Amino acid sequence: MIPAQFDYVRAGSVDEAVAALAEHGDDAKVMAGGQSLIPLLRLRLSYPEVVVDVGRVEEMRGIREDGDHIVIGAMTTHYDVLRDPLVREHAGLIAQATSTVADPAVRHRGTFGGALAHADPAGDLPAVAAALEAEFVVAGTGGRRTVPASEFFVDYLQTALEPEEVLVEVRIPKHTGWGYRYEKFHRVAQSWAIVGVAAVVRRDNGSIAEARVGLTNMGSTPIRATAVEQALAGAAPAGVAAAAEHAAEGTSPASDLNGKADYRQHLARVLTRRAVSAAAGG
Ligand SMILES: Cc1cc2nc3c(=O)[nH]c(=O)nc-3n(C[C@H](O)[C@H](O)[C@H](O)COP(=O)(O)OP(=O)(O)OC[C@H]3O[C@@H](n4cnc5c(N)ncnc54)[C@H](O)[C@@H]3O)c2cc1C
Repeated sequence: MIPAQFDYVRAGSVDEAVAALAEHGDDAKVMAGGQSLIPLLRLRLSYPEVVVDVGRVEEMRGIREDGDHIVIGAMTTHYDVLRDPLVREHAGLIAQATSTVADPAVRHRGTFGGALAHADPAGDLPAVAAALEAEFVVAGTGGRRTVPASEFFVDYLQTALEPEEVLVEVRIPKHTGWGYRYEKFHRVAQSWAIVGVAAVVRRDNGSIAEARVGLTNMGSTPIRATAVEQALAGAAPAGVAAAAEHAAEGTSPASDLNGKADYRQHLARVLTRRAVSAAAGG
């Protein structure tokens, strides 16, 4: 289908984007890579009066180091995230999960920030951001604020972003030396996750000192499997299977054509065992 008519604003800076959004409020929408937004426009599931394109805002692109964090600009493409040495060294989970996102064409256009701001519970990166305890730097008319991952994802396709706010960059605490694994269950290659599990594990003398686990598509937002994390703290690798049995606690996945809720809960337990075992080096 052809999208409904809209005006187009190309922002040259974060301030210009915020000003355009503030002027048009709920009638405006940010466009990053357009990989999710354009299909929504074409299906007329979204019909903004104004589209604010942030594709040329240089400040929102690229990856840098900042003390004990790496900082990923919201407009950095999946392709650039995948190739980046800082990401590989300090947050390998992001690179591995990103390699499972869609296909090369989508990864060249789609952006790290767009995938997070879109907040699709089936998207791979929100659970990764939750597991890594990412912080979201957001610009609005009142200046900038930082939102922790635990507060950023509010509901299905909804984030803590206000209508006039732009996601500028995402700060990722370094997880240098931690083991990691993203396990994604999907029926065909390069498709969305039916369930996904993102795990990072800090090992110490052969046991698991600390683990963080994020679940994809197990509710309307990404979910931290806190019961698993608690069971894993200080556990020997042999304890992973028992800890993984807690993976579905507190989840409320959808039932749809890809699987019923109880099947997804079964998948969460199996994939958590696999992801944590791999991250723990087992
Ligand atoms: C065929 C196909 C397969 C896909 N498969 C997968 C998959 O397997 N796994 C997966 O995780 N994803 C998948 N995706 C989605 C892909 O990851 C996109 O990159 C992502 O959904 C959106 O990124 P984008 O940069 O294109 O954002 P856009 O489409 O431009 O924007 C998406 C939403 O986020 C908002 N937004 C974007 N950037 C900002 C910002 N900086 N500040 C505020 N709001 C913002 C927009 O207003 C819009 O609502 C797939 C997409 C396609 C087309």
